[in-house]
Amino acid sequence: MSGLTLFALLAAAVVVGPIATRTRAQGQPPPDRPAVTVRGQTYTPRSILARNMGSEEDQTTQFPPHRVIENIYYVGTRTLSSFMIATPAGHILINSTYERNVPTIATSVNQLGFKFSDVKMVLGTHAHRDHQEGDALVKQMTGAQVMAMAEDVPALKAMKAGDKEHPVDRMLRDGEAVTLGGTTLVAHLAAGHTRGCTSWTTTVQEGGRPYNVVINCSLRAPGTLTPDIVAEFNRSFKLVRSLRCDVPLGDHPGQYNMRAKYAKLQSGGPNPFIDAANCHLETDIQEALFRAAVEEQQKGGRP
Ligand SMILES: [Zn+2]
Repeated sequence: MSGLTLFALLAAAVVVGPIATRTRAQGQPPPDRPAVTVRGQTYTPRSILARNMGSEEDQTTQFPPHRVIENIYYVGTRTLSSFMIATPAGHILINSTYERNVPTIATSVNQLGFKFSDVKMVLGTHAHRDHQEGDALVKQMTGAQVMAMAEDVPALKAMKAGDKEHPVDRMLRDGEAVTLGGTTLVAHLAAGHTRGCTSWTTTVQEGGRPYNVVINCSLRAPGTLTPDIVAEFNRSFKLVRSLRCDVPLGDHPGQYNMRAKYAKLQSGGPNPFIDAANCHLETDIQEALFRAAVEEQQKGGRP
């Protein structure tokens, strides 16, 4: 190789460098990491997001409404959970999801043989639009009381659907109970994903024995982890592991494998939603991703 050729190659390398950087900055998404393996399956932030949200169509298409256990029913879409708890004094709705889904949820409630107009209480897992944007419309349609964890109220107030104010009729504190028609739900602060992320617990009876139901708030860590958020997650992972659980549910059906369980439900046999063995699977996945992200951030791998 002549000196001149070498010089030309070096010059080319110098030019290639900045162009490559510029191309990535403009066009390509950041790398999808960390990756963790839990019980033999590998997860990344992007795979979790895809599992949780699916397509635009998945987020708005009705999933067949069904009974989960005793008086707890699924009335959400393919990828956004909405639960209705039926009581003789009216019904509790957990997660109104996007406002555009409210008519679909109302249809599901009515198809199950209940009246959407009997919804008396609206609760939520966390102040993100895909879970609670529809609260104002549900209140408008039913007159229900909207209750929310105090730490999520500022974010809820900032979440307007059209020109509607986000209603909050009662602010809840960690550990507080709400009761309607003999059903009691306890609100547990599981902050991190949002400041007031709320996991709900209740006890139901089936076949003459009690079962503990946990409706988990998302534990998915955001891209940038501030010291406050790290402290919240450290507390929340411990807390959710301490909740008594036989029936794990979540604010996205993918968090508790609803599709497979619903398929099993159709073939009869024991209730597939009673699944104590998998009560902590989602927590294990999210905690592994969180710990790996904290480590990467400390090493300067993430901004
Ligand atoms: Zn969220």
